[in-house]
Amino acid sequence: MTGETEEVLPKMQPPQIFVERTLAIIKPDALGKAEEIEDIILRSGFSILQKRRVQLTPEQASDFYAEHFGKLFFPSLVAYMSSGPVITLVIARDKAISYWRELIGPTNALKARETHPDCLRAIYGTDDQRNGLHGSDSYSSAEREIRFFFPDSIVEPIPVGEAARDYLAKTVNPTLMKGLTELCKKKPEDPVIWLADWLLSNNPNKPKVKEPMVQEPSD
Ligand code: GDP
Ligand code: MG
Repeated sequence: MTGETEEVLPKMQPPQIFVERTLAIIKPDALGKAEEIEDIILRSGFSILQKRRVQLTPEQASDFYAEHFGKLFFPSLVAYMSSGPVITLVIARDKAISYWRELIGPTNALKARETHPDCLRAIYGTDDQRNGLHGSDSYSSAEREIRFFFPDSIVEPIPVGEAARDYLAKTVNPTLMKGLTELCKKKPEDPVIWLADWLLSNNPNKPKVKEPMVQEPSD
């Protein structure tokens, strides 16, 4: 079977999935543009998985930005972030963390206007503090920040990168590759339904024990 797979699909790579989640915040100064911003998020290929409108207390804002504790701008950052409601969003797509950071642009909205005029902070932000939007800066920050606002949401992180590749390689790819090979040979009218049926009947996880025989009524 492996031989046939190579023969029929010589260059085919196993599917690669990089679904990643990140936390976006529409900060108090940009709240009036929330609908417009959510629309841009969706049009940029993200799904919005979760959304909450919250008013942070100063304690919660300090907690969220704990890494900046002690910096000169910390007290005014906390006051700004607790000055009105914010909208927090868990958004997902491939490379969500870096892509969202790229879309929002540099921290300082004034500088962003000069260097990245199309980025969201250039459009919706005002200065170095009131920059309209937040985005997690790494995988570990995204995990922490998503848990901060949505404590019940994640039981296990979605596997990404290597972990996703390993998971698929172990659990799905061998069967899927065989099914795709058969599909290419058969070229059925509805390939998706055909593949779905093929996968169900060739599912290596289906119970090995045969259905019990129906007992003949004895008379
Ligand atoms: P981010 O990851 O791009 O949001 O930037 P940081 O993590 O460095 O800073 C967190 C937030 O603090 C920024 O988004 C700004 O709202 C604010 N901030 C950062 N640097 C400054 C600064 O130099 N002055 C003031 N007033 N606020 C700042
Ligand atoms: Mg940051």
